[in-house]
Amino acid sequence: MVTAALPLGLSDWREVPRVRKLNAVPLAAEAHYVLCWLQQALRATDNPAIDAAVRLGNALRLPVLVYHGVRQDYPYASDRLHYFILGASRDVASGCRARGLACVQHVDREEHREKGLVYRLGANAAALIVEDQPTFVARWQTERVAARIPIPVYAINAACLVPPAVVGDGISGRSGFLRRHEPERAAWVDANDEPTDIAPYQGPLPFVPDTLDGNLDMLVTSLAIDHSVPVSAAFPAGRAAAETRLTRLIDDVLPDYAATRNDATRRDGASGLSPYLHFGVLGPREVMRAVTAASVGARHRIKFADELLGWREWFHYQARAMSAPESYGRIAGWARATLADHSGDSRPQQESLTAMLRGETRDESWNACQRQFLRFGWMHNNLRMYWAKRILAMTPDPETAWATACYLNDRLSLDGRDPATYGNIAAMFGGAPGETDRPVYGRVVPRGDGSTRGRDGGAAWIAKTASQPVPAVSIPADVPRERYGCGCTNTADDQPGKAKRS
Ligand SMILES: Cc1cc2nc3c(=O)[nH]c(=O)nc-3n(C[C@H](O)[C@H](O)[C@H](O)COP(=O)(O)OP(=O)(O)OC[C@H]3O[C@@H](n4cnc5c(N)ncnc54)[C@H](O)[C@@H]3O)c2cc1C
Repeated sequence: MVTAALPLGLSDWREVPRVRKLNAVPLAAEAHYVLCWLQQALRATDNPAIDAAVRLGNALRLPVLVYHGVRQDYPYASDRLHYFILGASRDVASGCRARGLACVQHVDREEHREKGLVYRLGANAAALIVEDQPTFVARWQTERVAARIPIPVYAINAACLVPPAVVGDGISGRSGFLRRHEPERAAWVDANDEPTDIAPYQGPLPFVPDTLDGNLDMLVTSLAIDHSVPVSAAFPAGRAAAETRLTRLIDDVLPDYAATRNDATRRDGASGLSPYLHFGVLGPREVMRAVTAASVGARHRIKFADELLGWREWFHYQARAMSAPESYGRIAGWARATLADHSGDSRPQQESLTAMLRGETRDESWNACQRQFLRFGWMHNNLRMYWAKRILAMTPDPETAWATACYLNDRLSLDGRDPATYGNIAAMFGGAPGETDRPVYGRVVPRGDGSTRGRDGGAAWIAKTASQPVPAVSIPADVPRERYGCGCTNTADDQPGKAKRS
């Protein structure tokens, strides 16, 4: 992290703990705009990254140019992910216009390839504002651009209610994290969109932007991405769908949340907000404002805050401190040791990748879980715990189990590739050590399916869910072993092209 002083606009912002300066480059003397590159916080309002850009623009007397680009070659690019992202991006553009901000988009495809677009847009920018994301593409693209682009880069935490910097470094356990996090929450819930003082940017651009106002289905179908993972009807793309989910949370889910959240058989037991939170269509501040104002029993609000803030933000905090949050090496040392001791054990419950991917294993309960991922691009939390633990018995060794769990979650789930993905799988492969030393699991505690099967109607629900028709997703030769950080080969966004200042 570069600790150089921040410029006016950022240094005097009440949200300054959200800001990290990623390089030591001074502000460009001549510039047309402040560039705000969105990657995952796909919302036009209540977005600290956009607010930071507006504040800096106002201080420099420059407009803000918001940019969002989608490549074809990010790991697991599919109809499901692309459609969700593009629907959110379309609403970012209209929301920015409503705020008086220019927003341009690029959808990477064979007939419209724009090499090094961030660098080319950056050539006319005083500074680059990016998001501070701790996993997947947004993390490593940002790090690479910050090291190469000749303008200052400021990373803004837009994913958490409480900026991790406020909590402070070096906390290794969740209880210590909560002791620091909980007292801070109230101070970070309220926020207003920063108003711009400058007319929207209408000057030259180094490319012809795409508009997403047309038929997104046709666009997605035309791209060279994985068409075997279909769009999720259960989680429609865009801001209106996210707002509908939030209203449903307040009206239907929250009034009984503490009692129903763990019941996978109920449709309205959990919020279903995770896809919208992962892609930043909704931010945690906005969700918490609605939850805090809801007329429901305190225990339901407390339970929800424990999930959204106590767990989600803990995993963000953890991932931020790790160089490779997606790697097997993040699992607790004792767990890796005990799993290694048992890696040679016979595994009679081993399954093929095809059977696992398609939800066609010999384990009906596991198939029910997997089929939620396949159909909806989402799985209930209670099922995810059983699903992840069982993968240890279904694969030939613990490293393959990790790679398989991450692969299935990241490829199929709309909320995958997230700090919560790897943090939760690591917790399922570790957690607290048990007393008993078992075959395959060692002292890692296994989990049965009783919390769903044992409910009234649970067995019937599992049987029905495990037999739902699912898309025939394509089967790879093997699951990827290398986690992210070097995966993309296409050079649309992150390679310096010819970047001329105009
Ligand atoms: C093995 C495993 C893998 C998981 N993978 C992911 C993942 O890829 N992405 C993801 O967002 N969550 C993941 N989770 C956490 C949790 O299962 C989902 O966030 C939750 O099921 C999403 O449904 P919901 O929005 O209805 O949750 P709700 O119960 O309504 O909770 C509200 C919000 O709180 C957060 N939250 C809830 N539980 C957790 C948790 N255990 N950890 C972190 N945040 C939580 C989510 O943002 C969620 O949207 C995983 C959990 C397990 C056990």
